[in-house]
Amino acid sequence: MWWHQPVSKLKGIGPKKSGDFQNLNVETLGDILNMYPRLNSYIDFSRLKKIRELTINNEQQIFAATIINITDKFSQKGKRYALITVGDETGFAEIYFFAHQRFLIKKFKPEQHVVITGKVKAGRSAKMVTDATLQVVEESEGEPTGLGILPVYNLSGSLTQRDLRRAVKQALTLAKDFLPESLPEWIIKQKQLPSRLEALENIHFPTSFAKLQAAKDRFIFEELYLLQCGLLYYRSRVKKTKQGIKHARDGENVQKVLHSLPFKLTSEQQKVWQEISFDMQEEKTMHRLLQGDVGSGKTVVAALALAKTAENGFQGCIMVPTEILARQHYETLTEILGVNGLKVELLTSNVKGKKRQEVLAQLLAGEIDIMVGTHALLQDEVVFANLALVVTDEQHRFGVEQRAKLASKSVYEPDVLVMTATPIPRTLALTVYGDLDVSALKGLPPGRKPITTLCYTNEKRQQIYAGVLREIKKGRQAYVVCPLIEESEVLDVKSAEEVYLELTHGFLKNIRCALLHGKMKEKDKETVMEAFFRGAIDVLVATTVIEVGVNVPNATLMIIEGSERFGLAQLHQLRGRVGRGNEQSYCVLLTASERPEALTRLKIMRSCSDGFLLAEKDLELRGAGQLFGMRQHGLPDLKIADILHDMDILLEARVFAKATVADSNQCQEVEAVLQNQFDERFKRIFNL
Ligand code: ADP
Ligand code: MG
Repeated sequence: MWWHQPVSKLKGIGPKKSGDFQNLNVETLGDILNMYPRLNSYIDFSRLKKIRELTINNEQQIFAATIINITDKFSQKGKRYALITVGDETGFAEIYFFAHQRFLIKKFKPEQHVVITGKVKAGRSAKMVTDATLQVVEESEGEPTGLGILPVYNLSGSLTQRDLRRAVKQALTLAKDFLPESLPEWIIKQKQLPSRLEALENIHFPTSFAKLQAAKDRFIFEELYLLQCGLLYYRSRVKKTKQGIKHARDGENVQKVLHSLPFKLTSEQQKVWQEISFDMQEEKTMHRLLQGDVGSGKTVVAALALAKTAENGFQGCIMVPTEILARQHYETLTEILGVNGLKVELLTSNVKGKKRQEVLAQLLAGEIDIMVGTHALLQDEVVFANLALVVTDEQHRFGVEQRAKLASKSVYEPDVLVMTATPIPRTLALTVYGDLDVSALKGLPPGRKPITTLCYTNEKRQQIYAGVLREIKKGRQAYVVCPLIEESEVLDVKSAEEVYLELTHGFLKNIRCALLHGKMKEKDKETVMEAFFRGAIDVLVATTVIEVGVNVPNATLMIIEGSERFGLAQLHQLRGRVGRGNEQSYCVLLTASERPEALTRLKIMRSCSDGFLLAEKDLELRGAGQLFGMRQHGLPDLKIADILHDMDILLEARVFAKATVADSNQCQEVEAVLQNQFDERFKRIFNL
């Protein structure tokens, strides 16, 4: 197909420019078409102003002029800046390039015709333009006003806007002959969307702003729709022919567990328990995500679900990412469920020999009600008698495939409950976990002491570590978290190794410290965590590996070095390691940064302790890609849709995707499109 051909097929694209295209991730003619212009930066040549017509309002305006003069200058304070003077028949304007923008002027020379966008202010001698971009208009392109609305692309190397426009034009000509549609016909009709060809033409060379908007809307919808289709399609495939399990309404067993708890469920816990319980009572398989802050009481809810499945004569299991976490869950669940007559067992790679054989045999014989374990549960030798409920904790550590692998160990289609302590906004959850329904457990159980969060610059380090000493003298433990493992030449932040050395030779001499990071062997990590858990270590210097951590109620202090390097959601997750006991806990955010954005974010951390709110703020401030989410889940980055902004479209796309996937004929069509658009990537994500 023509769209698989390399860009070098096009006129004007030689080896050098091909290479530049590659830097933009554009290799084929198809890639060229899908390389959307920079959003909101089209140039409307039909509405170019004259210099006299520019209003002094500090807002973005666009005009055409000729370069008269380019100079490098010094301000009165001695700072360098560059100035391009331009003019037309109505007057002059001066375009300022400050600091790092100065290099931008190199591309220009006097007498060039340019189109300028920028903010217009009153200058001393002429109108002053800042935040400007200049575009050279070639003579051969004719009068600028005849050009209509032109796209502005991201550039690389020697590529110019003109190169890109010409390349796209050629690809569009090829597309006119043959371009398959990527959305089902009925959706295009029902939503009155432009065809793929028309939309591509208008996103590159819009004939009007209304057409441009319609094209953008189509591609936003298409992107979200296809992603949802992929996720739902995956879910439909998993269902296969196995039968779902219909649990009975809560009976004696569940009631007993509820009564034996030393506390009453909060209203939030009751709400999510109802959602889960209801799902389990349906013939349809449950696929539910339970989101809740660290300590919000998810484990108890999971225990109820496990009790319910056991009460119905089935087995349940819960998979967690680390050995210590598994043991901790095993203890908690034995406490809650064991007293009610249920048999809970543990399986990790450390359960060996005779004990292992015994556990495996009992599991197969149906003698074990609840199985707690790590990845070890995925091994083929682990066979359940009648598995009906699969719970995974700290979900972002497990891929979709691992969840599926565990579920495949059942002769039925087991109910699936996924728990995560990294709440993400509902819309993002739908995108990232598009195959799951979402429950949110907000707030914390009563009686918890809020963690005091403080924020200091590095000058205060000495005082902070004096504070650590005081806490340790009181018999408490502390975490010191660092953004990096090893010393870095490029980044001006302290690594865990560096901090560890420094502390053990300085502030914390004679204190029992240990180092923990992700490059250590699994066994060594476990040993260190275990020692910290037992209280044999006072200070744990670690990277973010402790995010998925154990409950150490005696740890009351956390210092986060270089805290500006973490996202809000991540800082919150880290902070959740303290404040688990009865003592007042503290989280100290250290930073060397003076950047206002960084300080704003840290300020938010001080005032907010709601993981859901922080996740939303994070999304606003840093975009979806940065959040725990897309990339960690291996999902493709969104190209045009913006999850916060396009929430309504996402919800609508999901409805259409559900309808599509429900119909096997349409499903096949969509599968072909998914293959085409996401190719290997999609297969890898969904393990197809
Ligand atoms: P999560 O799994 O969400 O991190 P847990 O289920 O481990 O949270 O609960 C954290 C702590 O709160 C546990 O010690 C648990 O016993 C306690 N807890 C849970 N629910 C309640 C409740 N409704 N009232 C009081 N304490 C609770
Ligand atoms: Mg938990």
